[in-house]
Amino acid sequence: MDDLLRRAEAGYSRAFGGRPAGCWIAPGRVNVLGEHTDYNDGYSMPYAIGFYTAAAVSRSTSPTWQVWSEATGETVTFGPSRVSRDLSRADPVPGWASYVAGIVWSLSTLPGVRVGGARIAIASDVPLGAGMSSSAALEIAVLSALVDLYDIELSVLDRVLTARRAENEYVGAPTGVLDQTASLMSIPGHALFMDSRSNVIEPVPFDLEEAGLEMIVVDTHVRHSHATGEYADRRRDCERAAKLLDVASLRDVNHVEYLALPDRLLRRRVRHVITENARTLAAARALQDGTLGDLRYLGAAMTESHLSLMADFEVSCPELDTVVQAAIEGGAWGARMMGGGFGGSAIALVNADRSDEMCDVIAEAADLAEQPSPTFYLAVPSAGAARIDT
Ligand code: ADP
Ligand code: MG
Repeated sequence: MDDLLRRAEAGYSRAFGGRPAGCWIAPGRVNVLGEHTDYNDGYSMPYAIGFYTAAAVSRSTSPTWQVWSEATGETVTFGPSRVSRDLSRADPVPGWASYVAGIVWSLSTLPGVRVGGARIAIASDVPLGAGMSSSAALEIAVLSALVDLYDIELSVLDRVLTARRAENEYVGAPTGVLDQTASLMSIPGHALFMDSRSNVIEPVPFDLEEAGLEMIVVDTHVRHSHATGEYADRRRDCERAAKLLDVASLRDVNHVEYLALPDRLLRRRVRHVITENARTLAAARALQDGTLGDLRYLGAAMTESHLSLMADFEVSCPELDTVVQAAIEGGAWGARMMGGGFGGSAIALVNADRSDEMCDVIAEAADLAEQPSPTFYLAVPSAGAARIDT
């Protein structure tokens, strides 16, 4: 953490001169259970990981925003015309800085809020584009800084929704609130049980260290080009099924009602949503009331989740399947793909004293399958966003 803050501050000094008014950090996340459920008003269970994005920030006297990132080494400058309240009249900032401009735009559309200029330097330990949500970490770090520096009163839920709107409407990525919620609200040693309908968030005990376990993230380095189109297709399938079943969302369908759907493909899609919600709800309740007994028993639900995403929702790919199969065969308690699918990362729940061996087993399986050599990260349930005084 000290190193990350130093890099953000040093970047600030180099790019803008002087010292920032403060540093704000926000983490990436994993999602233990509940995939492709958020846009069906369903359940999920993410937690923040110990990899953070840091924003070293000061207010500017002029209404311009200057953003430097260590990841790109460039400084992007934009003025009010590019973050006009009326998005149809704005000329959106393209590229990576759009996440920052999106936050400024999203804040400016809130009633009574005026957000002035800022100088922002970004450094990050969250791998970019690997499925650990570097985008939400960037958004939440910048949002936290601007809210503090400009004394904007915003509830936790409104912060989440403001960041989500930046990503959905300004950047143009159709994501739910899972990433931003995890980045903002996580508590060490806990996961967050999220209900996407009510937006109610409940922390559930998730102390992997105490249980002698580790969660490994395996980045396959594969991202299939049809991923975005397929994601949109799945959302459409779910909307179509809900309409045919005459319900507001698939959250409202049970394991008998959906059989009324005439289309076999739609029935598979719906079966994933129903079983994934059931798995996530059951796991969260068992963690809450202590009836799970041991965290390793969650592994079976993770593996079931993968099988459902693979066979019913059809969003896995050979590279993810190789990793999950190797993990299970190598002795993991459970493993599954994570995120939208068609590449990205998988997670595996393993005994802490066997995690090095597990990484070797998975790397060997990837090699035998002639896949890119994966990268491994340890995902420790960690704290959400914070201001750090340096
Ligand atoms: P993920 O959120 O899983 O990492 P996304 O595609 O949603 O993947 O977001 C990754 C994008 O977010 C990057 O390509 C980049 O545009 C932007 N981004 C995230 N973190 C940073 C950073 N530290 N510096 C610059 N851009 C970043
Ligand atoms: Mg993202």
